[in-house]
Amino acid sequence: MKFEAPVALQRTPAPPDALGRVLTDLRISLIDRCNFRCPYCMPEEAYPADHAFLRARDRLDFGEIERIARVFVSLGVRKLRLTGGEPLLRRDLPELVSRLAAIDDVEDLALTTNGVLLPRFAQALREAGLDRLTISLDSADPEIFRKMSGGRGELAEVDAAIAAAEDAGFGTLKINCVVMRGVNDAGVLDLVERFRGTGHVVRFIEYMDVGTVNGWRHDRVVPGRELVERIGARWPLEALPRSASSTSRRWRLCDGSGEVGFINSVTEPFCGGCTRARLSADGKLYTCLFAHAGHDLRALLRAGESDAALGATVAGIWSHRGDRYSERRAELRAAGVLEHVEMYRIGG
Ligand code: SAM
Ligand code: SF4
Ligand code: SF4
Repeated sequence: MKFEAPVALQRTPAPPDALGRVLTDLRISLIDRCNFRCPYCMPEEAYPADHAFLRARDRLDFGEIERIARVFVSLGVRKLRLTGGEPLLRRDLPELVSRLAAIDDVEDLALTTNGVLLPRFAQALREAGLDRLTISLDSADPEIFRKMSGGRGELAEVDAAIAAAEDAGFGTLKINCVVMRGVNDAGVLDLVERFRGTGHVVRFIEYMDVGTVNGWRHDRVVPGRELVERIGARWPLEALPRSASSTSRRWRLCDGSGEVGFINSVTEPFCGGCTRARLSADGKLYTCLFAHAGHDLRALLRAGESDAALGATVAGIWSHRGDRYSERRAELRAAGVLEHVEMYRIGG
């Protein structure tokens, strides 16, 4: 499908934020609904079938998402990631992907998904210009996987998703696994084993205190360092260099069979290199995963604000950004600062 490119915006990078961090990434949540109920994100008790999710008219439409993306790119963003909720629940997604892929200066267009609907869409997404895929998979054990999807997912569906992504030509995939002590941590070696020699990279993510309803407890967090030791005892590991803005600590298996990553957001926070902005499906801009409020860009768009004015607003918001929740977690939690936006509203 062809789209007429809007008039090019002037490219003026946003000023660095209050801690000197430059805006380079935008995560776009496309929908707040999900076909899973992972206990660490959208526990079933808090999100029953009659939960009031956003109505279609409350969500940004594709034209609005594209406009906002263009404004962010004009301010220096080079990486876009589509997420949710479950982004594949958004109808006609390949159309949006092709519109975003057509924006000059977007160097990386990626998507994070639980994979269930991927066999239906992988080929179309690839053809539309999607560069990379991350697929979430918390366990290689069918029972534990089912439990961690809130009783909604089957391991075979994720296997089919991975095969579909490979067939569509996505090459190296990132496989995200949230590790919870006593729930799925005993299966970490099995996950590494499953992806050794495939070229895909499993990334173990520390269970985070996102949102307000996941019942987070510090003793459920398995420090990434502990996992490096456990995995290294079976397959010796060698640390790979880390870029300043990377969230993941990378290690290669010394036998050459692959690489694993660790996102140690709780025990080794990386706020100093956090260059990401986040947009919710209803058009709110969040400057941190743990923010309690967002800035309403949809209201500005729907009030007829120009792209230049929108860009100036976003640049102003970014320049005042001082977020570093993960570095201040203990202090802020002790002070009772527990009001965070839910993860499924702004993506991971
Ligand atoms: N539904 C898609 C999926 O699960 O891949 C995309 C949205 S999901 C919010 C994005 C990522 O956030 C997933 O990889 C998920 O595992 C991760 N995530 C959700 N809640 C988390 C938590 N409490 N701690 C750490 N990671 C979390
Ligand atoms: Fe859905 Fe993803 Fe959250 Fe699981 S992590 S409930 S798949 S949005
Ligand atoms: Fe970025 Fe906020 Fe996470 Fe720190 S806590 S890395 S500022 S999103």
